[in-house]
Amino acid sequence: MHCPFCQETDTKVIDSRLVADGGQVRRRRECLSCKERFTTFEIAELLMPKIIKQDGKREPFNEDKLRNGFQRALEKRPVSVEDIESAINNVKIYLQALGEREVDSRVVGEKVMDELRSLDQVAYVRFASVYRSFQDISEFQEEINRLQKKHEQIGDINS
Ligand SMILES: [Zn+2]
Repeated sequence: MHCPFCQETDTKVIDSRLVADGGQVRRRRECLSCKERFTTFEIAELLMPKIIKQDGKREPFNEDKLRNGFQRALEKRPVSVEDIESAINNVKIYLQALGEREVDSRVVGEKVMDELRSLDQVAYVRFASVYRSFQDISEFQEEINRLQKKHEQIGDINS
């Protein structure tokens, strides 16, 4: 790590601690030459697979695009930014854990639906209706029935 003040290459770590729930390492460093101190943050970089689009083209994983998808589905829904961010993170971890260099965009879509289903039912149906482009209204109705049934089952467990 070069010193940002004098560009000297010899710097030493004088303090190191976990921050952001252990997601980052914060390091205080001191330049051995000019004695200036500075801070660095270390974050694990997730190596994301390439996404195979429906037309067969490959494109780099795009987190902004993913975020837009979530935001569109969750527009005006009572879901916090933190919950959306953690859902995005879940998708990324899931994709990385597959250990593939390339992943079909459908895999991403299905995982997004999984996350939306647990975040907000309305957003889920919104996303699913566009994403799966339901062939007809009966297919759409089936999905809603399935959700309601699941909801009732959860209700049974709680009661
Ligand atoms: Zn220096």
